[in-house]
Amino acid sequence: VSGASPRVVIVGAGFGGLTLARALRGTRFQVRLVDKNNYHLFTPLLYQVASALLDPAEIAQPVRKLIRGLDNCDFHQGTVVELDLDQRRVLTDQGSLDYDYLVLATGSTTNYFGNRSVEERSFGLKELPDGLSLRNRVLERFELSRWEQSASKRRAMLSFAIIGGGPTGVELAGALAELINLVLPKDYPDLNPHEPSVQLLEAADRLLGTFDPRLSQAALRALERKEVEVRLGAMVKEVREDELELEDGSHLTVGTVIWTAGVRGSGLATQLGTATSRQGRAPVGARLQLEGRPEVFLIGDLADAGGLPMLIPVAMQQAKYVARTLRDLEAGRQPAAFRYRDPGMMATIGRNAAVAQLGPIHLQGFLGWVMWLTVHLAKVVTFRARAIVLVNWAWEYFFYDRPIRLILRAGNNR
Ligand SMILES: Cc1cc2nc3c(=O)[nH]c(=O)nc-3n(C[C@H](O)[C@H](O)[C@H](O)COP(=O)(O)OP(=O)(O)OC[C@H]3O[C@@H](n4cnc5c(N)ncnc54)[C@H](O)[C@@H]3O)c2cc1C
Repeated sequence: VSGASPRVVIVGAGFGGLTLARALRGTRFQVRLVDKNNYHLFTPLLYQVASALLDPAEIAQPVRKLIRGLDNCDFHQGTVVELDLDQRRVLTDQGSLDYDYLVLATGSTTNYFGNRSVEERSFGLKELPDGLSLRNRVLERFELSRWEQSASKRRAMLSFAIIGGGPTGVELAGALAELINLVLPKDYPDLNPHEPSVQLLEAADRLLGTFDPRLSQAALRALERKEVEVRLGAMVKEVREDELELEDGSHLTVGTVIWTAGVRGSGLATQLGTATSRQGRAPVGARLQLEGRPEVFLIGDLADAGGLPMLIPVAMQQAKYVARTLRDLEAGRQPAAFRYRDPGMMATIGRNAAVAQLGPIHLQGFLGWVMWLTVHLAKVVTFRARAIVLVNWAWEYFFYDRPIRLILRAGNNR
């Protein structure tokens, strides 16, 4: 590798890949960043696209814009379909790239745990088009309901069930309930307020299973205040047209099912010649390398690094670690093992309510919400997007209005 600039190929321009490309700025590495999309997605606010509060451009930014100014980094849009680890080559649907070091940061995909009916009949919330599809669906259902004469059919049409009471499910449930209870009634003055409903189904006996139980309780109360019907211990067996069947044999009438109950490592995990974990992630060693391939690193959701959670801080810290490790390897130094520093977790439940667990500090209610707002606003990727997000949030907060109630069909939308 010595002599010419070592070539680093990074697959995935998400939180891990983008952070790594930035951390390699000013080094002698020649960096190629590859992603199937030409944008970087800020996932924590995807539910706000689904609930008509933010537009896609506010939470997704073109990769080329984000790497402008990185002289040693170039972007290639393409889907990686195969890895030739022996030849040190990445094959995409557009062409191939040779590497000296490879970093895989392709994240995760929705996990349906093999349940075909859920996969075929539910909406996901993982990628940007998912957010748009869901926004269309919710708004369309309200339009359609205006043609329906039967009250019971209208109720079915306007019933939304979210499966999975983790942070994504909880946040989406709160935001959908507010859209439906606070915003849409102004557009539909004739609507019977008892017809629309939002349900949140969780298989375990509490929401937010990774949080302190008191915060789970606080989230439950906050959702109930927003008229979300929460069902705990509810394991979904089958999704049918306008109906859900639970494992205990009970049936629920539901017009739209949204699945937020699981993710698994992206498909590339199965191409690495190692067994994957239960979550479909590929195991890595203490230095985040693939076993027997010290030139191949895995970071973020794709990597099973001692069972660390699938969270942004994990991906970003691992990216910074790999940047240091690559420099160490080039300098002939022995890299230290990766260590994760847990900055805490939060989830918001709509206006004035959130839970935050930051080490020994646990916040809920209004304080938690202010904390959530500040942290998320600070992290929105560019200044322009941050300003627009702030205006949209303030607009909604003061006027109980969401500006983006457009039903937009684009090509592959459902
Ligand atoms: C709705 C939602 C909300 C979330 N909220 C939070 C939160 O509030 N806080 C938090 O810490 N975590 C949150 N997460 C989790 C967080 O998004 C992930 O842990 C994080 O994105 C992982 O980073 P990553 O770099 O591994 O993957 P990602 O950020 O997902 O990036 C993967 C990239 O790889 C690209 N890619 C995938 N396959 C290929 C391929 N074959 N070829 C080319 N490119 C490919 C993708 O297009 C994507 O850009 C949330 C996740 C979701 C879905």
